[in-house]
Parts: sequence; C-alpha cells; structure tokens
Amino acid sequence: MTRVPAPLAKRQGIIFILSAPSGAGKTTLYNGLKLVHPEIKLSVSCTTRPRRAGEVNGRDYRFIRETEFDQMKAAGEFAEWAKVHGNNYGTPRKPLDHSVQTGRDILLDIDVQGARQIKKSYPQAVSIFLLPPSLKELKRRLASRGTDRSEIIQRRLANARGEIGEILHYDYYVENRDVEEAVEVLSAIVAAERAKISRVIEWRLDSLRGEHGPKDHGQRP
Ligand code: 5GP
Repeated sequence: MTRVPAPLAKRQGIIFILSAPSGAGKTTLYNGLKLVHPEIKLSVSCTTRPRRAGEVNGRDYRFIRETEFDQMKAAGEFAEWAKVHGNNYGTPRKPLDHSVQTGRDILLDIDVQGARQIKKSYPQAVSIFLLPPSLKELKRRLASRGTDRSEIIQRRLANARGEIGEILHYDYYVENRDVEEAVEVLSAIVAAERAKISRVIEWRLDSLRGEHGPKDHGQRP
C-alpha cells in the first residue's frame, strides 16, 4: 500500500460562492464539479419557497414556513439572507463557520444579494458568476424545465438581466457553453484558490528540510 504524504500546509476551509440567473445550468455544473471534487460540501439553504417535484427536504433545501424563517433571522442564525423571486432564502451560519474552521471547502449556491453579504462578513470568500450562453438559451432552459408556471418564468427572466449586471462585484466568471469546459474552469479556480500562500495557517515543511531544503527569506514558515 502506498502511503499518501501528509499535506505540507494547513489552511482554513474556503467559501466558494456560485451565483447565476436561474436556468444558467448551475445544477448541472455543480454535479460535474462534485465528480471532480467530491470533498467540497454544498451548503443547504433554508427557504420559504414551495418544494418542487423531485426536491428533497434537507438535501436541496430546508423548506420552512415564514414564521420559522423570521425567527431564525431574528436569532442571527443566517450568515446571509435575501428575498429572491418573492421567496425568502437564507444560508445557515453554523455549518458554514464549522466548514471554515475545520478546513473543509464549502460551496454556496446563492444569489447576488447574498453574495454581497457573504463577501462583507467573510472577505476571504471566493465569488464566481456563472454566465449562460445567451438570454435566448436561458429562456429555453427555463421553459424546458417544466417545473414553474409561465409568469414565474417571465419573472425569472426579468431578474436575470438585473443579476447579470452585478457581475462586476464577483471575483471570477465562468461561461456555461459546454459543461465539461465550465467544470474545468471551475476546478482551475478551486485549485488556484487552494494554493494561495495567504490561506495557510500552519506550515508543515519539516519533511522537506534536508541539508539542501528550501531557503527561506524573512519569516520562517
Ligand atoms: P431556486 O428557487 O430556483 O432553487 O433558487 C432561486 C435563486 O435563489 C437562485 O439564484 C439561488 O442561487 C438563490 N438562492 C438559493 N439559496 C439561497 C440562499 O440561501 N441565499 C440567497 N441569497 N440566495 C439563495
């Protein structure tokens, strides 16, 4: 059995924010990312939106009533919350903080309002905006999903234009023309962010320090 060497550095978990107008293909992209990076956890939001067919409570969302949402909001249990398409959504704070503290990366599928709040409270978070190939394609995807009524689809399309206008507040963008390509770009972002020196909280370089080990300049890690 080959022994896997211990990591050379310890770092905090990274918060990845993925925002996109609905229908941009976020779920497909996330499923692709999960195959490459099964270790990235997905934050489960609370929402007051009715459950869609095929959605599982506790896996896709925690579906809760307005009163419970308001109580959680008042108790400060959300790291961010927002009203999106007429329904309330919130990211529970505890699992998020736990992931960061235990060095586990976590992905937040949240809208542009939520992304702004998270960046304010967690400046080290990495925000990524997923762009659909075109508005025409976005409309086609929303309609073919068949899970929402036509007035809801129209509202989501109108919101999409506004959301795309927020792209300048993000760190990265990914074009979703081809899922494989988009997953590749996303994985590259994940790899680059994980390799940032500024994220290291403890170096474990002893095994590298031989007679000809790395020379350090300034503070020794
Ligand atoms: P859907 O209802 O189609 O699953 O999601 C609608 C929108 O709500 C998407 O843009 C999604 O990213 C956003 N959303 C889902 N969960 C949260 C959350 O916890 N906070 C915020 N701010 N947006 C969320």
